[in-house]
Amino acid sequence: MPELPEVETVRRGLEPVLTDRILAHVDQRRPDLRWPLPERFAGRLTGRRVTGLGRRSKYLLIGLEGGETWIIHLGMSGRILVGKAKIGEFHHPTSTPGKHDHVIVTTDRGDTVTYNDARRFGVMDLWSTADLASHKLLAGLGPEPLGNAFNGAALAAALADKRAPIKAALLDQRIVAGLGNIYVSEALHRSGVSPRRLAGSISRPRVERLAGAIVATLNDAIAAGGSSLRDYRQADGELGYFQHSFRVYDRDGDPCPTKGCGGTVHRIVQSGRSTFYCAECQR
Ligand SMILES: [Zn+2]
Repeated sequence: MPELPEVETVRRGLEPVLTDRILAHVDQRRPDLRWPLPERFAGRLTGRRVTGLGRRSKYLLIGLEGGETWIIHLGMSGRILVGKAKIGEFHHPTSTPGKHDHVIVTTDRGDTVTYNDARRFGVMDLWSTADLASHKLLAGLGPEPLGNAFNGAALAAALADKRAPIKAALLDQRIVAGLGNIYVSEALHRSGVSPRRLAGSISRPRVERLAGAIVATLNDAIAAGGSSLRDYRQADGELGYFQHSFRVYDRDGDPCPTKGCGGTVHRIVQSGRSTFYCAECQR
């Protein structure tokens, strides 16, 4: 599932293509994705100028002239293509282009932007830009991990009374927005915190280190994604690898990458989902 860095990479890839462009033609091929698309969806997009591209958590926010924002969530397998090139190489395999193209937008400059989603867990909506914070999908979200409101003190306050394992707490979008299974495992390893530890029992200095590791992990992933964007315009061009080498995610049985640790990465299951960690250096 695309997490914050993948969505941010998509946002950056779309920015030069869509900013200030008019959505000249909109080809909507289905009435629904995960849920029904908004009423008169294609008609409401057509002819609108894009004022800017934003992101909140894992939601892509395309601002439109006239005061509405086009909200997109990529779900499990959604992806966006410019021309024929993919934006971002997600960790999980996605479908062949063409087969599951559900919304295709052509700008006044002739670029096409395609939303492709094999499993159709994606979400799209149109919502008043002024009232965006009240949208049901955005209203309950915690702080943006790369924003000013997120730091060790904020995270410590959010975790203080939590009796859940820290892995589960970090997946809770009310505590911090945008993290998923991959980057939670990565940030916990980077900070030396065990995914099993109860969220409220972690000492303040270690929460500070964890908050820093979350920020660093996301920034590194975004930097890796950004490097994949350079050539997206080349015809039929596959982008460079988005997936950089994860420290522990999907590395069950590999030696722990922490210098001098000597431990082994293990996979455990927490709340039905895989966690990868090293019991030697994560306490
Ligand atoms: Zn280790």
